[in-house]
Amino acid sequence: MLTNGGHRLDGGELAELDRRFAFHPFTALADHERNGPPMVVTGGKGAILTDAAGRDYVDAMAGLWCVNVGYGRTEIADAIADQARTLSYCHAFSSMASDKPAMLSARLIEMAPVPMSKVFFGNSGSDANDTQVKLAWYYNNVLGRPAKKKIIARERGYHGVTIVSGGLTGLPGLHAGFDLPLPFIRHAMAPRRLWEGHGLSDAEFVAKLADDLEALIAREGADTIAAFIAEPVQGAGGVIAPPEGYFAAIQPILEKHDILLIADEVICGFGRLGQMFGSSVMGMKPDMMTVAKGLTSAYFPLSGCMVSEKVWRVLAEGGSKFGPFGHGYTYSSHPIGAAAALANLDLLESDALVARAGEVGAYMQERLRAAFGDHPMVGEVRGQALIGAVEFVADRAGPAAFDPALKVAPRVVKAALDRGVIGRALPSADSIAFSPPFVIERAEIDRAVEAFRDAADQVWGELK
Ligand code: PLP
Repeated sequence: MLTNGGHRLDGGELAELDRRFAFHPFTALADHERNGPPMVVTGGKGAILTDAAGRDYVDAMAGLWCVNVGYGRTEIADAIADQARTLSYCHAFSSMASDKPAMLSARLIEMAPVPMSKVFFGNSGSDANDTQVKLAWYYNNVLGRPAKKKIIARERGYHGVTIVSGGLTGLPGLHAGFDLPLPFIRHAMAPRRLWEGHGLSDAEFVAKLADDLEALIAREGADTIAAFIAEPVQGAGGVIAPPEGYFAAIQPILEKHDILLIADEVICGFGRLGQMFGSSVMGMKPDMMTVAKGLTSAYFPLSGCMVSEKVWRVLAEGGSKFGPFGHGYTYSSHPIGAAAALANLDLLESDALVARAGEVGAYMQERLRAAFGDHPMVGEVRGQALIGAVEFVADRAGPAAFDPALKVAPRVVKAALDRGVIGRALPSADSIAFSPPFVIERAEIDRAVEAFRDAADQVWGELK
């Protein structure tokens, strides 16, 4: 019950509390302190969110690309409640084990798209990617290669916001004011068809990207580079799928230079591309994999770092050099998180939701292309299965970007919200993203696409 001394708070009062006291992530802080939130969400079911005023919205982003099985799944809620009653917490330090994390570890290793050996649990995609970097460093220290420490990420990649993962993220807006990236991080070229790949065939673009990576490795020296991290499809950087043949071309380069490949499956993992993992769709053969978001459909914060047997054997040998492995979180292997994940994976299976993501995803792609393909301010409609984006440009032929000060994508998102649909403007890509729950109905996709098309028309009218 929303009470304050017996008084039930209404939407306006809640918004006022939020405006005065909440410090929001990824928010224009002064604007929020002035204006407060656009709405206060109080409920969710399927792909629909409800606000304190009783208005409903299609959530075309599944939160932040994460509520894959949809809101309000009692199966997961019950699993969480049962676990909280039976064993609310158990740590995993010093070999301590509890039942659900043990079961989840085995299940993830069995599901992995390429053979994996062990899984280390954390709380978020960011901390998991920080862990991956520590693992890559530890690996090279055990192997007696203390200079092999740099990490190559890609421009437009998104890997989180912590001190290390924020630097791996290849978006300048996340570095500004934070003294990032740290000095051991490098960025390779983004595989954007619309910009870096403009006018090139897939084969030419792949060659350009591979040359860029080779040149970067040559400049830095392969003996200084520990790992390369990549999302199968870059999400927050613009929903960018690499050109056909990209990973097939760059993996041999990484192998030749003994550089580990980390697949960041935080968005793509657990079905968003219509197969269980993005690595399978893109032909990635990672040495390490990061999972989060869809692992629990965000019913509980949980992430995992999966490592291959090749990596694991070296880490395990590390004990003789460095003593017991000195890394872990209070909430690593949280039993409630593991129970939520097991229930979530059960739902993916019982409701065949990965196949459904492929099917309704194909419908969403078709609808997006039909609605935006010929729009005068759209440069590209892209994506596959249940992840998509529409990029706005000032000149389609050039192409030429809009002046960022015009804030085209955020204005479209705001206009769509007024029409009852929640989307997301991607930082510095002038794009709107779509990444709905797998349970979204076709009629809800129609409602979302139509609202966004109207919203884009409105903003186009304002710009002309
Ligand atoms: N990696 C990818 C691909 C992501 O999309 C995200 C979050 O959006 C992260 C890592 C960071 O995850 P978190 O926000 O849970 O720290």
